[in-house]
Order: sequence, then C-alpha cells, then structure tokens
Amino acid sequence: MTYKNNHLITRDIFDKVILPVYAPAQFIPVKGKGSRVWDQDGEEYIDFAGGIAVNALGHCHPNLVKALHEQSEKLWHVSNVFTNEPALQLAKKLIDHTFADRVFFANSGAEANEAALKLARHYAIEKYSPYKTKIISFTHSFHGRTFFTVSVGGQAKYSDGFGPKPADIVHVPFNDLDAVKAIIDDHTCAVILEPVQGEGGLTCATPEFLTGVRALCDEFNALLIFDEVQCGMGRTGTLFTYEQYGVTPDILTSAKALGGGFPISAMLTTEAVSSVMHPGVHGTTYGGNPLACAVGCAAFDTINSDEVLAGIYAKRALFIAELEKINQQFDLFSQYKGKGLLLGAELNAKYQGKARDFLNTATQFKVMILNAGTSVLRFTPSLVISDQEIKEGMARFASAVKKVISAY
Ligand SMILES: *Cc1c(COP(=O)(O)O)cnc(C)c1O
Repeated sequence: MTYKNNHLITRDIFDKVILPVYAPAQFIPVKGKGSRVWDQDGEEYIDFAGGIAVNALGHCHPNLVKALHEQSEKLWHVSNVFTNEPALQLAKKLIDHTFADRVFFANSGAEANEAALKLARHYAIEKYSPYKTKIISFTHSFHGRTFFTVSVGGQAKYSDGFGPKPADIVHVPFNDLDAVKAIIDDHTCAVILEPVQGEGGLTCATPEFLTGVRALCDEFNALLIFDEVQCGMGRTGTLFTYEQYGVTPDILTSAKALGGGFPISAMLTTEAVSSVMHPGVHGTTYGGNPLACAVGCAAFDTINSDEVLAGIYAKRALFIAELEKINQQFDLFSQYKGKGLLLGAELNAKYQGKARDFLNTATQFKVMILNAGTSVLRFTPSLVISDQEIKEGMARFASAVKKVISAY
C-alpha cells in the first residue's frame, strides 16, 4: 500500500506545537487495519503495542466501524442532563457479566479511578466517620495522571513536582500482605490495586495476596478497588482478571480496551456502595456519551466471546515461544511476566534500564512494541492478532534485537 503524500504535516511540527510531555516515534501513522499500521510514506508496521492495550480488536475492526458509523448518523452527544440508549445498553452488559449493580461512565482511566477514589472516601465518611479517609496503595502502581490518581499511584516520578499532594495516602510493597496488615486500620476507607500491574512492570498479584487483602478489607470495613483499566476487558484471557483469582472487589475500573480505541471508561460498583451517591455528588459532561457507548457495546460483544477469549492463551504461548527463540540466540531475557496478552519480557542484568533502546530500534525494523518501566519489554497486541502476524512481527523484532546487541 502506498500513499501520495506531500507531507504538509511533518513530525517536526510536533516539536514546535505540542506540549513536550511525550517524545513520539519519528514516523506518523496515518492508517491502521487489524494488527498493521501504515505511515505517511506507506511503510507498513506490525503493531504489538495496540495503542497501549487499547486496540483489543486491532485497528478499524469492522464491528466497531459499523457501530460508530451507525451511531454517528443518529445522536452524538446529549450530556448527562439526558440519558441515552447506548449508555444504558452498555451498562446492562457490564452488570450482566460482572459482580456489579451500578456503573458510572467517564472518558479515561484516570477519571474512572478518580470517581472510584472519591466514591470510596465518600462512602466511608457518610457511613462511618469523617476520619475514615486512609487509602492504601502499592509501589510501582499506576492509576492515571490527575492529581489525585498520581498521588495514589506508587511512582513518585509522576506525582512529585506539583506541590502539596492530597493527604492520607500510604504506599506499601505490592504482594506484601504483612505490609498491608501493618498499616490497615479502622480509618482506612480503601485499598486500590491492579491485579496485574501494567505500567509498573507487569507484576501479577499472587492469589494469596488478593485473598488476604480482601479479608483485611472486610475486617476493617474498607472498600477493595481493582484498577482493571489495563488488565481488564479480555486482555488476560477472561473478561476481567478478578475472575481468575475468585476475589471480588467492591469497585472496579475499566477503560483502555473498553472502547477499542474510542475514549471511554467505566467505574463499576455494588448497590450497597453506590447508595451514598446522589445527584450532584459527582459528574462529567462527556461520560456515557452515545458515540463512545455505541462503540463500547460493539467492542464488548466482540471481545466477550469464546472466539476471542479462548484464543488468548495460545497466542501468549506463541509470543513466548518466539521470544524464547530470540533469547536462545541473544541471551536477553530473565523472565516472562504478566498474564494473557498483557505480556512482559524482563531484560536480564546485562540490559537493565535499556528497554527504550529495544523499542526505538524495533520501530526502525517496522514493529511497534512498548516498555513497562525501564527493564521490561511489553507486548499488548490486538487480542485477535493472527499467528502469522505474531511470527512476522517477531522476525522483525529479532532483527532489531540483533542490531541493538551488536552495539554492546
Ligand atoms: C492507562 C492506565 C490508567 C490511566 O488511564 P488514562 O486513560 O490514561 O487516564 C489507569 N490505570 C491503569 C492500570 C492504566 O494502565
């Protein structure tokens, strides 16, 4: 596929006009289909990044295109002064397939978590005491970039440098149940965690840890919040990851794959917890927007099918087999992390801190990958990527690895 492009829009413009909080790759993607992306020059890339675990059905999946197109000719936006059919449909789907009874829609993972944290504080204050405000979170966790969510997140590099932080938030090591035991008390309103830490390096919660935290939350009347923004919506092989642990949260947040590329997020909770909310306590202009929810409905129905979910473990196995071939040749990885197609390959001692070198070089060889922290390569492809695309992308990645390694 080639494009006649006179390049009126070039990558240089980014450096002049966009707030410099990102350093995107040098090419500009202009088209995507399935697990392939093309740039302005018609160069084709294999996409193992999936827009950071967002494009769970690849680019321009026909079901999503159809839903967006049909809704775009009906109704775009009405605000929450009015409700709309797609929002109610999507809410029912989420409720029918999870522990939840109530849904709040927003537009991003951070906003869903912001709503979850405000709800947990409000619930504890209304139901128990104005002093029940402590939030327990974990090191290396990531919950978004609003000021409350970076403060709750366990990575100081994202929360320092903005002045006084919201108070009464404590961080303890992930998977350390004794550390939670030591700090949880009657003043704790919530424990928040990612069942698989996404940005923080793809560490999975241990089953004992999740079971133990659930029991502690029950003992101290604290709400358990699962941030499944990255690990939910099929990514790890079940609709939500908590199903695999048999541990049910009080609040769950979803975003990323929920809209398959259209911005939408949701906070799910129980009837009991939602009972403290009333009109005016929290809100959003765009949340539950009909366009977003129509796409969300199509994404939900497509992802939540045996056809998609049943293939995920085999695709993970193929990814690991291909990575292991590269590892045999170049001695690069110390372990594979994550679950399902939230897959990490941790660089061994020799390449610690060098993840970015591998992904930058990978784009030169026409394959898109991610990092999670500085020493884990992250693969979050479409859940319906073909075996052929996995093999082809891995062959390109192997060439990139060879080049990076030859420079050492
Ligand atoms: C991406 C992410 C967020 C933030 O989502 P945004 O849509 O960027 O606000 C929150 N939590 C987790 C676990 C994430 O991976």
